[in-house]
Amino acid sequence: TPRVVSGVQPSADSLHLGNYVGALRNWVDMQDDNECVFFVADLHSITAGQNPATMSERTRVTAAQYIAAGIDPERSTLLIQSQVPEHTQLSWVLNCITGYGEAARMTQFKDKSLKQGAENTTVGLFTYPVLMAADILVYQANQVPVGEDQRQHLELTRNLAQRFNSRFGETFVVPDAKILENSAKVYDLANPTAKMSKSAPSDAGLIRLLDPAKSNAKKIKSAVTDDGTEVRFDRQAKPGISNLLTIYSSLTGTPVDTLVAEYEGKMYGHLKVDLAEVVTQTLDPIQKRAQELLDDPAELDRLLARGAHKAREIAARTVTDVYERMGFLPGA
Ligand code: ATP
Ligand code: MG
Repeated sequence: TPRVVSGVQPSADSLHLGNYVGALRNWVDMQDDNECVFFVADLHSITAGQNPATMSERTRVTAAQYIAAGIDPERSTLLIQSQVPEHTQLSWVLNCITGYGEAARMTQFKDKSLKQGAENTTVGLFTYPVLMAADILVYQANQVPVGEDQRQHLELTRNLAQRFNSRFGETFVVPDAKILENSAKVYDLANPTAKMSKSAPSDAGLIRLLDPAKSNAKKIKSAVTDDGTEVRFDRQAKPGISNLLTIYSSLTGTPVDTLVAEYEGKMYGHLKVDLAEVVTQTLDPIQKRAQELLDDPAELDRLLARGAHKAREIAARTVTDVYERMGFLPGA
């Protein structure tokens, strides 16, 4: 069975509906046909500085949402990145076979460093894609489900795997990107031409998985639409309505065309009220399960420790092999 690896950063107090529709929910389905490794990317989340006071809580909350959304820690391997030191061990080796120019071509680094300014840009942000390559290669993953924005990083991962293999002998599986094209992209409800994002300047259009149903419903009812009256899918002319239809469709499985027919002649308000209900029904069980897990942090921590242990069985084998091929003196 193919092995799949993926992760999300614990950079907020809750994941959002885009993370759910675009990542988590797909992961849940992948568990049927793949051997899955899912991690909370806490090491990645410190490239722009972090708050030690919220770090551990955010990490737990993120892991709890994975499980609450349907990641089964028995069937899959669920781990916290910083608890499996092989990620960073491999990352250093990969840093040393990555060209400086090659890393400097990464468009995400260029965008983010421009935004942050040179004095706020860390070397960690620069080598972020190399740590990402290590996350994947350390588990010998066959497939990596990623959004379009990660395509270039995955290409780097493949190049590093091939380079290492040709210099030091067959060591790594060269992973394929599984670009989730038909998985819906969710847009910000208040600004429906921008994608829903944890780092949006305002949270008015952000549906967080763990927010109270009332507050999410209110945001849906105030979602920005156009001044027309027709419920119709048209990303250009009607980005707001199209976004509501996409969310509705992806949470219920009802095709967009069917929804459009159902709301023919009805006002936008009807669609919004019904969508708010759909979102509430979807998130309610996730919130309850996440809360149960967070009510017993010691048990959650034990579960995560077991996940890290399971992960290390694979990861340590890879690092031992890599170190040996590099010619390092064997450890005691
Ligand atoms: P940030 O703003 O910090 O980049 P983010 O909200 O974009 O945060 P990421 O951690 O970058 O979240 O992404 C985690 C996963 O969620 C990725 O697989 C990404 O493709 C998916 N994802 C993020 N935002 C959306 C969205 N609006 N619609 C669909 N999928 C999304
Ligand atoms: Mg992002």
